[in-house]
Amino acid sequence: MAEVAEETRYVPHHRQKIAFVLSAMRHHAEALRRAGWRVEYVRLDDPANSGSLTGELARAAARHGATRILATHPGEWRVLQAMRGWNGALGLPVTILEDDRFLCPLPDFAAWAEGRRQLRMEFFYREMRRRTGLLMRDGEPEGGRWNFDAENRKPLTGDLFLPQPARFAPDAVTGEVLELVERRFPDHPGRLRPFGWAVTAGDAEAAADRFLADSLRHFGDYQDAMRAGQPFLYHSLLSPYLNVGLLDPLALCRRVEAAWAAGAAPLNAVEGFIRQIIGWREYVRGIYWLKMPEYRDLNALGADRPLPGFYWTGDTDMACVGAAVGQTLREGYAHHIQRLMVTGTFGLLAGISPQALHEWYLAVYVDAFEWVELPNTLGMSQFADGGLLASKPYAASGAYIGRMSDYCGSCRYDGAARTGPRACPFNALYWDFLARHRERLAGNPRLGPVYRTWDRMAPEARTACRDGAARTLDRLDRGERL
Ligand code: FAD
Ligand code: SF4
Repeated sequence: MAEVAEETRYVPHHRQKIAFVLSAMRHHAEALRRAGWRVEYVRLDDPANSGSLTGELARAAARHGATRILATHPGEWRVLQAMRGWNGALGLPVTILEDDRFLCPLPDFAAWAEGRRQLRMEFFYREMRRRTGLLMRDGEPEGGRWNFDAENRKPLTGDLFLPQPARFAPDAVTGEVLELVERRFPDHPGRLRPFGWAVTAGDAEAAADRFLADSLRHFGDYQDAMRAGQPFLYHSLLSPYLNVGLLDPLALCRRVEAAWAAGAAPLNAVEGFIRQIIGWREYVRGIYWLKMPEYRDLNALGADRPLPGFYWTGDTDMACVGAAVGQTLREGYAHHIQRLMVTGTFGLLAGISPQALHEWYLAVYVDAFEWVELPNTLGMSQFADGGLLASKPYAASGAYIGRMSDYCGSCRYDGAARTGPRACPFNALYWDFLARHRERLAGNPRLGPVYRTWDRMAPEARTACRDGAARTLDRLDRGERL
């Protein structure tokens, strides 16, 4: 096992993300040793460390007189390319094995996609339900429906008890890693301490226990809700553990199904959670490997604005964006709707380069690895793949954020105003986005009614919207505070 500098630097990873991965690796090496394996482990600050995966492999192969290389399929195309070069570089045969921490092997996904005009997640998900038997009864979906999403869009109201996710005090191994990260990565974004992520399989299971006991029953109802000062709500925060292999996705889904069978959580919550894991998570991975490397450069809407500075500081008067970015820097975490409908929608409406946004999302989240982050950013959030992943762009005005959160109440901007000095920037940008991309989007059946509303607006109102948007974009380009 090797900690290599190239993996820590290819984007400016959040400091908690680096600490999480390195500490989980060191704990895993210890667990393997305890189980009787011989493990060679090269630390980041080892003076002999070459700094690259290929360099460390070459050193290890020479030390051991290796005759062949067995590797598990990696999570990033960049690394797969490096692996494909190993035979030439080292003169050893290389076998790349399927990563069995996923439920859908890549050849099976390719076979599912073959010949389909549209690769909709919903149909893939049904296959995965049948394949795993999760929430199935006699070949039919439990509750008579595949998808209960329509019930999962409630805003948070009143003073519901909000559970806190499990946090774990750093042990000596993590403490040493935290000091290393502090020393080596002072220029990387994000607060490093307090650090509370689980770094062992046992603690990740304890985090899953806590989610099942405290949050799962409300997970569905409030999946799309946002609230100021409450970064976690009823979300699981289990993605980092699933993504590095501390939790097994199928075992987790079976526990969630069992909670429903025992009456501890309703079907809309349980189906919603299982769909995210055996549906979305597997599907975006399949799309990534099917479409790379071309996928990374797609830019169907021709968006080319640089990333505004406030994505790195949270320094903006837009309360929703400030909250999402602020908690991202503090926690290395934001939930799906904050990523999709706040920072993502702003980027979409403002025409920010999808590649710049991709690098940001890949850097700032503890759970970010390219196979999952890229399709979510480029496809779902930015429509840069022209609609392969999403049937329409996730464009929305401030009204959506106003409905699903309490951010607008404390915002300098007025969520209801479309024009004027205090108008919420999302509003004019929303209409301007639709007008700008009319040629491409007007034929989309789901956007027909929206375009009809735009066409019914008085010409002066339409002009005021477009002028307001132009002023906002101009301020953005000049680096003025928004
Ligand atoms: P929960 O809300 O508790 O959901 C349960 C689990 O379902 C998650 O742990 C995750 O494993 C899975 N899941 C949910 N939605 C998705 C999805 N759309 N795609 C894949 N898996 C999903 N997820 C990552 O794991 N890594 C990323 O780098 C990442 N980048 C994203 C970037 C953007 C722009 C968007 C819109 C979404 C991104 N997601 C990413 C998906 C999703 O936002 C996170 O998985 C989720 O917020 C993780 O928090 P949680 O564990 O509390 O999730
Ligand atoms: Fe965000 Fe607009 Fe609401 Fe302010 S008014 S919080 S900018 S949606």
